[in-house]
Amino acid sequence: MGSMRNLTAAGADAVTVGVLALQGDFAEHAAALRRVGAQAHEVRTLDQLEQVDGLIIPGGESTTIARLLLAYELRAPIIALGRSGFPIWGTCAGAILLAEEIVTLDRPGLHLIPMVVERNAYGRQIDSFEAELDPGPLGGRPLHAVFIRAPRIRSVSNDVEVLLRLGPEYDDEAVAVQYGSLLATTFHPELTEDGRLHRRFVEMCEQYGSQRDAGQVPAAAGGSG
Ligand code: GLN
Repeated sequence: MGSMRNLTAAGADAVTVGVLALQGDFAEHAAALRRVGAQAHEVRTLDQLEQVDGLIIPGGESTTIARLLLAYELRAPIIALGRSGFPIWGTCAGAILLAEEIVTLDRPGLHLIPMVVERNAYGRQIDSFEAELDPGPLGGRPLHAVFIRAPRIRSVSNDVEVLLRLGPEYDDEAVAVQYGSLLATTFHPELTEDGRLHRRFVEMCEQYGSQRDAGQVPAAAGGSG
């Protein structure tokens, strides 16, 4: 893996990460990806999905994104890719869509991470707030996290790794989790300058890209055909 971190050296080496651009703050994610040296491509079609080494599902309105995923015929291909080891990172509304079980979403999500998520669950007064998180496996200084009408992760299966938690005033509940190649954060790392989570995801995409180039990734919706 160490040899794959040469991201900023040359554009030609930079991994290409897709950002689902149907609704929400995809432009901020694309900018954050570029800040850590990756190429960012907006994804609205199956063809574009097949060109990237990973996909970010941004914050926005999960009901709207869920509806548009069906309208753009991207839901089934994204599910197939997510099951095949393709890296997907959902932030806020994106995290909601990745959850296997969603409290109060009246449309089908992607059901990829075994966890229960409840939408808009921090209550009205504090439905937007900021917090300093213990950086856990990211290392270094605390991570400043922005929560905007965020969902709460109510429970996760044992095989889901909790990366980051809120403090004791929120029962140390999980706000960033990883399940194989799938990442979910209930806050918005794309709205702060801290690139640690984008860098982590880009490294996951690099690893996936090199495995696929070596023929070690099963063909899914976006397979080499
Ligand atoms: N409340 C939104 C939803 O339920 C998520 C908010 C966000 O992505 N910032 O979809």
